[in-house]
Amino acid sequence: MSDTIAAISTGMQVSAIGILRLSGDMAIDIMDKVFFPRGGKPMSAYPDRKLVFGELKDEKGDTLDICLCTISRAPHSYTGENTAELQCHGSPTVLRAALEAIFSFGARQALPGEFTKRAFLNGRMDLSSAEAVADIIDAETAEAAKNAAGQLGGAISRRIDGIYSALTDISSHYHAVLDYPDEDIEDFRMENYKSTVSEALSSLGRLYKSYEGGRVLQGGVPAAIIGRPNAGKSSLLNAVLGYDRAIVTNIPGTTRDTIEEKLRLGGVLLRLTDTAGLRDTEDEIERLGVERSRRAMKEAELVLAVVDGSRELTDEDAEIIREAEKAPKALLLVSKSDIAKPAVLPETVLDAIEISSVTGEGLDELGAAVKRLFPIPESPAGEILTNARQAEAIKRAISAMEAALGAMETGCTPDIVLTETESAMTALGELTGRTVREDVTNRIFQRFCVGK
Ligand code: GDP
Repeated sequence: MSDTIAAISTGMQVSAIGILRLSGDMAIDIMDKVFFPRGGKPMSAYPDRKLVFGELKDEKGDTLDICLCTISRAPHSYTGENTAELQCHGSPTVLRAALEAIFSFGARQALPGEFTKRAFLNGRMDLSSAEAVADIIDAETAEAAKNAAGQLGGAISRRIDGIYSALTDISSHYHAVLDYPDEDIEDFRMENYKSTVSEALSSLGRLYKSYEGGRVLQGGVPAAIIGRPNAGKSSLLNAVLGYDRAIVTNIPGTTRDTIEEKLRLGGVLLRLTDTAGLRDTEDEIERLGVERSRRAMKEAELVLAVVDGSRELTDEDAEIIREAEKAPKALLLVSKSDIAKPAVLPETVLDAIEISSVTGEGLDELGAAVKRLFPIPESPAGEILTNARQAEAIKRAISAMEAALGAMETGCTPDIVLTETESAMTALGELTGRTVREDVTNRIFQRFCVGK
């Protein structure tokens, strides 16, 4: 018995079409109460996945919309339960009224991610694929979406399942020898499994390594642009934003506040904060802006330090360069190369690029430098690890398997090898959801949107 959940899956903005979704034992019965096909038969008389035209009515029988409905019976549906979907006109008012009518017949509001959680709990998809659903929705670049689609198609699960099954062979053979001493079972020899463990280790190692680029692929690089007032920071930002305005977002603040933009540079998604300058100030508002700038700089994995190349550099410029040198990665941008030859630069370990926001000089070079600093792995779609939880589980599996291999090589007793093998299996099981704890599962689905 599962209670029936319902939600608007398309958000609450006005749009051409709005979709309402239901899942649970009563999903189809409820459709018979709110949706009346033009052909006269009730929805429950229609086969699965047929799109049916009809009238949507509220609990009093008043027509709310003329729309389409489709049903899928358990277990052949997204969630594995009875499901129904109404494709209405995209008016938030209509959708809200329809949802109220559906609630009045016994459904309840779905929680964030609850449809996908049910799909996971009912064995319709494993946990790594379920997480890929959220990743596709959140993807901010086409590359990130393609990788998530590969994971939704099971790219991670296939790799992990292969390794898990090899480790299961080790564990089951060991237990068989121990539990059935009288049976004619081949002796458990660790040498026979050495190559299995080292192959599994190198496969997991490759996957883990892809996380460095994968993290950037899915979440972008936190970056900060720093420099003296009038160094040319805002102009640079505008010049680079011109390349890819579609994904620009603005978090508004006062002019002395920090501004965050998402943009692509050299194919890398940057979450770039235009800082308010770093000078000491008596002005309270400006001081807050400077504080935020410092925080943004501390959190940045890439700092772009801008100095005005058309003027003599000052101590403040030198200070800015020194701050940038402390960042995990940084580039020195010498601006306004169109009006004067760059100033004499102080000694620095940073790569310097001359740029002009007016002519565009140096911007390609800047893109190429960012790409070099944050390479996206060239793995097939789906085989780039983008998820911190999964990366952490793989790391644990790797260290358990390294310990198992070490135990094999130093001639430890098989039970030690077995303990490590089994903890590697537990860690890998967390990726696909075989061994994951309920509280972890709940946390994972909380990050989904309502209706998915
Ligand atoms: P910010 O205070 O660091 O954000 O600097 P702005 O981007 O506001 O630029 C300060 C001044 O320098 C403005 O008058 C810009 O027009 C000018 N400027 C910025 N970049 C360039 C450039 O590449 N070439 C030229 N010729 N002027 C620039």
